[in-house]
Amino acid sequence: MEQVVRPERCVVAVDGPSGSGKSTVSRRLATQIDGIYLDTGAMYRAVTWAVLQSGADLSDPEAITKVAQETDLSIGTDPAAPHFAANGVNVDAAIRGPEVTGAVSAVAAVPQVRAQLVRLQQAIIAAAPRIIVEGRDIASVVAPDADLKVYLTASAAARAQRRSAEDATDVKATEADLNRRDQLDSSRKTDPLRQASDAVEVDTTGMGIDEVVSHVLQMLNSKVSS
Ligand code: C5P
Repeated sequence: MEQVVRPERCVVAVDGPSGSGKSTVSRRLATQIDGIYLDTGAMYRAVTWAVLQSGADLSDPEAITKVAQETDLSIGTDPAAPHFAANGVNVDAAIRGPEVTGAVSAVAAVPQVRAQLVRLQQAIIAAAPRIIVEGRDIASVVAPDADLKVYLTASAAARAQRRSAEDATDVKATEADLNRRDQLDSSRKTDPLRQASDAVEVDTTGMGIDEVVSHVLQMLNSKVSS
């Protein structure tokens, strides 16, 4: 494993499509640099959970915005246990379920929801000495001044394999769902998923987790010591 650096302050943006290894890599990196970890996807998922609970119409951006504004989010940033709650209810399991996964891209496409969550994300980043932030628009929108911007990719088949191993779902169905979300996330008008021009792409197909973490730490080392 790469020698660990612990700069006084640093922000690392980790973007990429679903199943590219962002969460595992980001949590490991945060632990390594003794920093905190922000899972912005979980924030969109927690708001989606609240929207589903409220019974709001998923095709009504105003109704979705209202629920988002009224939702009290508790955002865990400990890489060892990033717990989330919405309106006082722990949602760690519910936000990974099929209902939320099926609806999250529609909620995340609402510009007012994005503006609200981006503001929150930026406040958390500003208050943290060292932070790894994972999402879709971190390098381009949330933290354009990040010290290191990583764009993780992997083949569709590899991403589906990983996801279905995590949650014991059928590989083909998982691949179809990942492709559906990638398509929605890349084609939405506000802050679509795309690689920032100054982000370093790391294709994790066929790479082990240790190898990816080591590679990113190496990049961080050379950024913060240059
Ligand atoms: O990363 P995860 O798969 O948990 O993200 C769930 C969804 O949240 C994505 O499919 C995307 O619609 C949305 N998202 C987003 N912007 C982010 C993070 C996630 O739009 N920064």
